[in-house]
Amino acid sequence: MRIVLIGAPGGGKGTQAKMLIEKYGIPQISTGDLLREAVAAGSPLGMRAKQAMDAGQLVSDDIVLDMIRERLAKPDAKKGFILDGFPRNLAQAGALDKMLEKIGGGLQTALHLDVDFDVLMKRLTGRRTCTACGQMYNVYFGPSRVEGVCDKCGGKLMQRSDDNEATIGNRLKVYENQTAPLIDYYRKQGKLRTVQGLGEIKGIFNSIVKVLESLPSAKSAVAKSPAAPAKKKTAKKKAGKKKAGKKKVAKKAGKKKAKKTAKGKPKAAKKKAGKKKPAKSAKVKKKGKKKGKKKNKKKGKK
Ligand SMILES: [Zn+2]
Repeated sequence: MRIVLIGAPGGGKGTQAKMLIEKYGIPQISTGDLLREAVAAGSPLGMRAKQAMDAGQLVSDDIVLDMIRERLAKPDAKKGFILDGFPRNLAQAGALDKMLEKIGGGLQTALHLDVDFDVLMKRLTGRRTCTACGQMYNVYFGPSRVEGVCDKCGGKLMQRSDDNEATIGNRLKVYENQTAPLIDYYRKQGKLRTVQGLGEIKGIFNSIVKVLESLPSAKSAVAKSPAAPAKKKTAKKKAGKKKAGKKKVAKKAGKKKAKKTAKGKPKAAKKKAGKKKPAKSAKVKKKGKKKGKKKNKKKGKK
């Protein structure tokens, strides 16, 4: 099972991922964890990542993809993986597809755990933590018996400073903006599966399992993928041979463009305006000339 997991912060993605790991015996691959591990281990990729981070830069997609590829080569990923936190944008999604195709195991599904914006707001802004024992509560979904007081130890409950509405609303909007194109991308590939992330954790998990077990079987997906890179090679060769053909296409495209602009009607009116105002800049005059030429071309063709 080769899955990309898409879900908002606070949407319960982590919990579901853990349950999937147990059920299917496949690893969850979080790019955040990979980065931390690689840096800590001082591997060549980790060093490159550290350089970027020390310079205050984002770690490049290439480095992250290399890390994912290394991780996928480990034996526990033979049966599949759950990718979490990557891709975050279209460029990364495309690069991931290419990389997976090369190693012969494209994604089977992008699993989207969909949770209503208002519910997410409540889950995140409602969080309260005991300052004494660390017990967590939620004022909407799992409140303490007495407001602001821990059931277990009587300690004071606090809200984390970054759990306020403005910050969280902002985070969620950033997430939605980032995710919308990805969802579209996987939908077009026919790989998107959406599960509503509302209700009991177990019920959501059952829905996810149902979706996963109705996917085209893992075996057939693996069998298909090795053929893909071979096709690409021949395509490239052809492209090389047909260089002349490409040029022709480009020329054609150019002509089409010219035609299109020539078709626009309001030209005559603009021209007249130009004549009425002879004092206008040279730019206008030039434009007029160009348009004239194009018109001539069109006439010539006819
Ligand atoms: Zn407590």
